[in-house]
Amino acid sequence: MKKPLMAGNWKMNKTIAESVSFVRMLKTAVSDVKDIEVLICPTFICVNAVYNEVKGSNINVGAQDLFWEEKGSFTGEVSAFMLKDAGCSYVLVGHSERRQHFGEVDKTVNKKVKAALLNDIVPIVCVGETLREREENTTFKVIEKQVKESLPDLSQEEASKLVIAYEPVWAIGTGKTATPQQAQEVHAFIRERYSQLYKDAADNVRILYGGSVKPDNISELMKQPDIDGGLVGGASLEVESFVKLVKHSKN
Ligand code: PEP
Repeated sequence: MKKPLMAGNWKMNKTIAESVSFVRMLKTAVSDVKDIEVLICPTFICVNAVYNEVKGSNINVGAQDLFWEEKGSFTGEVSAFMLKDAGCSYVLVGHSERRQHFGEVDKTVNKKVKAALLNDIVPIVCVGETLREREENTTFKVIEKQVKESLPDLSQEEASKLVIAYEPVWAIGTGKTATPQQAQEVHAFIRERYSQLYKDAADNVRILYGGSVKPDNISELMKQPDIDGGLVGGASLEVESFVKLVKHSKN
């Protein structure tokens, strides 16, 4: 049975003090939550402070990116090995903002996925089409390419451990959410294509939806059979709204 995952992607927001104070409040607010995994992905420099604050609680810590080499002359980069040492159990890979602004491509996503798994960190691999691609009716073609090219050459075990996030680029930070039906359609497609690569893993792999997830749309999204959680930007920056998402409540 898959345990749903609610992940907050803080992007380039919050100081160390703000991050620690947030998770201190979150820890208390979600201490009774057992049926859903909770994850916060702060900036690199806040990861360890956040980890120290949530250690022993039901909150997991993740990073927003990584580099695939373990160590060496790679100025500005952070390895999976270092993230593990700092307390990360998850890492985002191939977020559309990294693809858009920092030249991330499927081939580098695949290297990062392998490095994360090798260091016992669960990669959350992001895929999603742009508005133009959706309007040109190439959504499924784009998603299929991203899934196949970002995720080749894994064992069945690795393939069932990782998490996929479907994030339509046109819905990220725009207030435009995919309808539950639009999201479900793509999630089911991802699972079906993933089963062509990893037959045994496809039923178990968790597929998160991301793109303007808010307390008032989470319940309908989570009712869809192939949506196993959320990857949340804006609504994860306030304790109150993130707690509502974890608890799927509208009030
Ligand atoms: C994201 O950052 O992955 C995201 C989905 O952002 P938002 O929830 O703000 O659309």
